Amino acid sequence: SENGGTFDLVILGAGSGGYAAAIRASELGMKVALIEKNKLGGTCLHVGCIPTKALLHSAEVADAARDSETFGVKADFQGIDMPGVNAYKDKVVNRMYRGLTGLIKAHGITVVEGEGRLTGPDEVTVGGAVYKGANILLATGSVPKTLGLDIDGEKVITSEQALEMQSVPQSVVVLGGGVIGVEFASVYRSYGAEVTIVEALPHLLPLEDESTSKQLERAFRKRGIKYELGTPFESVKTTDSGVSVSLQGGGKPLEADVLLVAIGRGPVSEGLGFEDAGVQLERGFVQVDENLHTGVGSIYAVGDLIPTLQLAHVGFAEGIYVAEQIAGLNPPAIDYDGVPRITYSEPEVASVGLTSAKAKEKGYETVELDYNLGGNGKSQILQTQGSVKVIAQKDGPVLGVHMIGSRVGELTAEGQLIYNWEALPSEVAQLVHPHPTQSEALGEAHLALAGKPLHVH
Ligand code: FAD
Repeated sequence: SENGGTFDLVILGAGSGGYAAAIRASELGMKVALIEKNKLGGTCLHVGCIPTKALLHSAEVADAARDSETFGVKADFQGIDMPGVNAYKDKVVNRMYRGLTGLIKAHGITVVEGEGRLTGPDEVTVGGAVYKGANILLATGSVPKTLGLDIDGEKVITSEQALEMQSVPQSVVVLGGGVIGVEFASVYRSYGAEVTIVEALPHLLPLEDESTSKQLERAFRKRGIKYELGTPFESVKTTDSGVSVSLQGGGKPLEADVLLVAIGRGPVSEGLGFEDAGVQLERGFVQVDENLHTGVGSIYAVGDLIPTLQLAHVGFAEGIYVAEQIAGLNPPAIDYDGVPRITYSEPEVASVGLTSAKAKEKGYETVELDYNLGGNGKSQILQTQGSVKVIAQKDGPVLGVHMIGSRVGELTAEGQLIYNWEALPSEVAQLVHPHPTQSEALGEAHLALAGKPLHVH
C-alpha cells in the first residue's frame, strides 16, 4: 500500500471535535493529518447547529410578522417560502464552510478526503494510503438513531431530511421530546404545521430542571403544539397520505403527513477497525479515561463518539484538550457540569450547573429563587414569558442556573461564569446589571437570594 506520510497527529473525522484538535495541534507545532469522508465541519456545520438555528431564526421572523400587530406594525404575513428559507440557511452554512476551509488551510493542516479505517494502533488507512501517526484521534461523531424504523426520507424522516424540506407539511408527529425534537417542533409550528410531540418520559426536555420543562410545556401548549408525555411509541405505518403512529397503551393512532424521528444520536464506531485495534466500545461509544485516552497506544477519542454531552462546544473543548495533552501541556480536566446547555426553541431553554433534583441527589442543602420574567423590563418589551431560576448551596455558592424565555440562551455566558467561579449570590448581587436587559433577571434573582430583593416580593 501507498505511503500517505508520517504525522505527529492523525485525526479521523473533521467535525467539531476533530477540526478543533487539528487547529490547536498545529498551533502547538505539530504536523497534522485530518481525514474526512464528507465535508470539513461535520454534523454541527452541515446538518446540525448552524442550519437548525437558521431555520429557527426564520421561524422567529415569521412569528414577528404574524404577530406584528402586537407591536403596532402593519404587516401582511403571507406564509413561508421554503426555497427562500433554504437559500438563506445555505448561505449561512456556505459562508461558515468557506471560512473553516480557509482556516484549516492557513494552519498548514493536511486534509485527506475519504473514508478512513484504523488499521493499527498508530495508523489510519484511506483507500490504499497509510497515514502513520505518533498519535491518533478518533472523532467520527454520531448519526441519528432510528429504532429500526424505515427512514424513507419523505414520510418518515430524521433531522437530516427535516433540514432539506421543500415545503411545509400540514402535520407532523415528532418522536422524541429532547433538544432536537423540541427545536424542530418549534420550527414546524412557526411555519404553520400542526405538531404533536411523543415522549416516553414524563416531560419535554427530560434532562432539564423539572420546573423549566413544565414551563416549556405550558408555553408550547399556548403555541398550539400538542404533546403526549410518558407514552412510549409503539409502531408506525405509512399510509397513502402520510403516517399513522401508534403509541403504547392503545388509544387512537396519531395521523400526520410526516413522522420526524428524533430519539437521539448514536456513535459512528462500527466497521472502522476500532475494536480490532483493542479500543473498547460500550453501546457503540468509545471508552476513554479522564485524559480522553482509549488505553490503546496513543489513541484518543473526542466528541459525540464518546459518552460525554453531545454538544459542539464539548467537542471543541475535548479536541483542544487532547491536542494540549499530547503536547505535554497538562491541561486542566473539563468540568462537564459547567458546560452550558441550550435548546433554541421558542421559548429558549438554557441552563448551566445542577438541576434541583441533581443537587438533592448530591446531598446539598439548597436555597432557590425562581425570578419571573414578568418583572423584567426587556422581557416585557419582547413580550416573552419565562423565568430565571438560581439554585445555591445554603450559605454557599451558586450550584445551577435554569432559564426559559425568548433569547435567554445568550444569558448562559454570565450563568457560566457565576457557576464556574463558584460565586456566592451576594457577590453576584454586587454586580450592577445594565437596564433594560434580560441579564437583569439574573441580577435580580441573586439580589433576592442575597436577601435584598428589588423587583420581587
Ligand atoms: P461530527 O460533527 O458528527 O463529525 C464527525 C465527522 O467524521 C463527520 O464529518 C463525518 O463525515 C466524519 N467521519 C465519520 N466516519 C469517518 C470515517 N470513517 N472516515 C472519515 N471521516 C469520517 N450542538 C450544539 O452544541 N449546539 C447546537 O445548537 C446543536 N444543534 C444540533 C442540531 C442537530 C439537528 C444535530 C443533529 C446536532 C446538533 N448539535 C448541536 C450537536 C453537534 O452537532 C454535535 O455534538 C457535534 O457535531 C459533534 O462533533 P463531532 O466532531 O464529535 O462529530
